[in-house]
Amino acid sequence: MLGYPEMLALAAEYVNIKEAEYLKLERPLANINVNITLTLENGKTILAPTYLTLMNEVGAGKGGLRIHKNVSLEEVQSLAGLMEIKCRITELPFAGAKAGICINTEDLTTKDYEKLIFLWAETYKPILIPRNKKYYYITACDVNSRPWMMSKIVRHMGDYQCATSKDPLDGGIRGRPPATGYGVANITKFYIENISGESIKGKTIGIQGFGNVGGWTARYLYEMGAKITAITDLYGGVYNENGINIPELLKYTQKSNNNSVSGFGKEFSNEELFSAHFDVLIPAALEDQITKKNAYNIDSELIICAANGPITLKGQEILDQRNITIIPGIANAGGVIASNFELMNAGDPKVVEIKDVQQYINKKQISNFKDIIRLSKELQVNLFLAEIILAIERRLDILRAIGF
Ligand code: NAD
Repeated sequence: MLGYPEMLALAAEYVNIKEAEYLKLERPLANINVNITLTLENGKTILAPTYLTLMNEVGAGKGGLRIHKNVSLEEVQSLAGLMEIKCRITELPFAGAKAGICINTEDLTTKDYEKLIFLWAETYKPILIPRNKKYYYITACDVNSRPWMMSKIVRHMGDYQCATSKDPLDGGIRGRPPATGYGVANITKFYIENISGESIKGKTIGIQGFGNVGGWTARYLYEMGAKITAITDLYGGVYNENGINIPELLKYTQKSNNNSVSGFGKEFSNEELFSAHFDVLIPAALEDQITKKNAYNIDSELIICAANGPITLKGQEILDQRNITIIPGIANAGGVIASNFELMNAGDPKVVEIKDVQQYINKKQISNFKDIIRLSKELQVNLFLAEIILAIERRLDILRAIGF
């Protein structure tokens, strides 16, 4: 996954930036590392290194809490950089940030998760609790972190603004959990219908990941009339050339082992997903899934980045040579946009209808996506680079106007 310094270097070829400004932007404002020890329900004690990166002082740091065995400082920093790009292109009042806990989740029980979240919240209390009404970091869901955990965090802190994507009873809003998937489906439909001039109905789609983002993306695209023919996850996959029945699959995964799609129909692997034909391919699992090793095999005209950073730079170069269009991070910005809506409506979640959240996502996502498309045409660069350039230009505007 590309780090913020590399993205800045790419943008600097096109943006007028002074040396002092470059120095100010290049590194995160802060990196925090705290090692937590956790005694599991089975009596075993394990060490779980945790990290938090805050990119700058533009606003409260925003970016989810990732709980995964591969979490590292490098990964958290890169994800915070992607969040910084996302907050600038959506014009939200946040600084990019990310938190992570490095732990093998395979053997964790619900009680272990509860304890882990309690320990994490206790550890990061000084950053999560506002001082003089200023928030430094507002957390949210990411891989393996769930709305009930965000509810635990705000209850523990006694502050309903220090986490988003929590339960509506704890100051959350109804449309937040589906928001990222809604945004992914929304931008897919917009691109196919308004840019390519075709219909979303009947388009074949392959999705990697069936968690929060992949699951909601599949549900919305299914409702729009697209034909989702393959879905894979960490444990396996499923293929149906006539289209998978998504409502039935969602029911199935509520009870299946590890909530996996595996066993719902004809088995399908991640390798097959990255070489089978789809009109649209949607990586919605993890970063660095499309690389120089499999980019030549991809058989889709359009790739939508539902996950953060699912394509490496080399993978991107190969896909560019092959004229495959990639819609970058703006595609998965629905979550952070809805988080802002959640914070704006804090204290009165009941008045918020899902359609209000979706309208807000649609407005912010599509208008800024049009800016990215315009810049891409103007500079003759791909959408990925246009997005980075736009984000750096907007970051420089803030730096020059306010000084941070
Ligand atoms: P999740 O934990 O709910 O789901 C992850 C899914 O990916 C699961 O189905 C899992 O089985 C699958 N998966 C994990 N490792 C895999 C592998 N090696 N191969 C194939 N499948 C694998 O996580 P999520 O919240 O849906 O997040 C998915 C991605 O979307 C991440 O990159 C995350 O950073 C990004 N994202 C999430 C949000 C959000 O609001 N949750 C917002 C923006 C971006």
